[in-house]
Amino acid sequence: MRFTVALLLFASIGLLRADISKCACDPKDPESMKARQCSLCLEAEKRPAGEEFFILKDINPRKPGRWLVLPVAHGSAAHHFRDLPKPQRDKLWQEAIRFASEKFGNDWGLAYNGERARTQCHLHIHAGRFIKAAETAGGIFVKRVEDFPAPEEGGIWVHPVPGGFHVHLGDQITETVLVR
Ligand SMILES: [Zn+2]
Ligand SMILES: [Zn+2]
Repeated sequence: MRFTVALLLFASIGLLRADISKCACDPKDPESMKARQCSLCLEAEKRPAGEEFFILKDINPRKPGRWLVLPVAHGSAAHHFRDLPKPQRDKLWQEAIRFASEKFGNDWGLAYNGERARTQCHLHIHAGRFIKAAETAGGIFVKRVEDFPAPEEGGIWVHPVPGGFHVHLGDQITETVLVR
């Protein structure tokens, strides 16, 4: 049984990896934006001028408890988190925490999948209710959003703890710590 689960997981990572490695979403080239992995880039293009961040409900019917928090501005091909300028990164986290805590009180969690687990090119943070049983020992205690690290490799997930936040690094698939 365990073997089957691991195999399935591996298969799905393989599929997803193929997706994000071909990020060529170019807003000036409508043809390029038709690719499936560009659909969040397309959403960003629809936002009114002057808006910096936006929230989307996850359209996957199997994830009714999920939202996405996104910057309007496009990044590099794969929109790496580390490429987002620090002031924008801090604002994105602040915006995501404000939204998630409004929605889920103290039970919120935020998760950014690593490049190998992402299916969309446009940078997005998943917001949802944190699954307490998903906690691991690897969390770093961080007091202020301004001190959140930007992962060089892999994803990042965050949840509140008394007096600050727990920041977890090193996982590719992070959104599984959130209730679907
Ligand atoms: Zn984009
Ligand atoms: Zn933790």
